[in-house]
Amino acid sequence: MSLPIYLIGARGCGKTTIGQALSQALGYAFQDTDHHLQLATQRSVADIVAAEGWDSFRARETESLRAVTAPDTVIATGGGMVLAEVNRRFMREHGQVIWLNAPSDVLAGRLERQPEAAQRPTLTGRPIAEEMHDILRERAHLYRQAAHHEVNAMQPPERVVEQILQSLSLARA
Ligand code: ADP
Ligand code: MG
Repeated sequence: MSLPIYLIGARGCGKTTIGQALSQALGYAFQDTDHHLQLATQRSVADIVAAEGWDSFRARETESLRAVTAPDTVIATGGGMVLAEVNRRFMREHGQVIWLNAPSDVLAGRLERQPEAAQRPTLTGRPIAEEMHDILRERAHLYRQAAHHEVNAMQPPERVVEQILQSLSLARA
């Protein structure tokens, strides 16, 4: 049995896409903390935030992180998971943490191409490119701090998966 692999990074960096491909390559289970939270509460992220506020959402997010943590599992985390020190420490202590890093304009471009996935309310109502720029400026140091390895998420998904396997010295199942 192997430690869980946590994928961290801003919205659009590929946590879900890469997480699914990586779990297949390794023969691991795949979990997504946002998805777990939605199943557990029967509400969307936007609904939880609207009804209970961001603090309550963040507390539930921490619960989801703990609930999905298991051996031989790839875990896609919510983009804001690293904001809480308790989450950063938990991930570092319980598994291998990978930061999928891509510039804000790349993230914004991807998100603009999948508007249906914009489940999380924008904080500001400003253009998505500006918002992603600010998010990365605020969080880059937290992603870096939490991660054991940083991977260039602008590469094609197969390359990203390959690089993660190399970083962790893991072979395909
Ligand atoms: P996250 O879960 O981090 O928010 P997703 O996996 O949902 O990100 O990916 C967001 C969008 O970007 C999707 O449309 C996905 O197909 C695309 N995408 C993800 N990773 C890559 C990649 N390495 N190269 C090109 N497009 C990607
Ligand atoms: Mg996702």
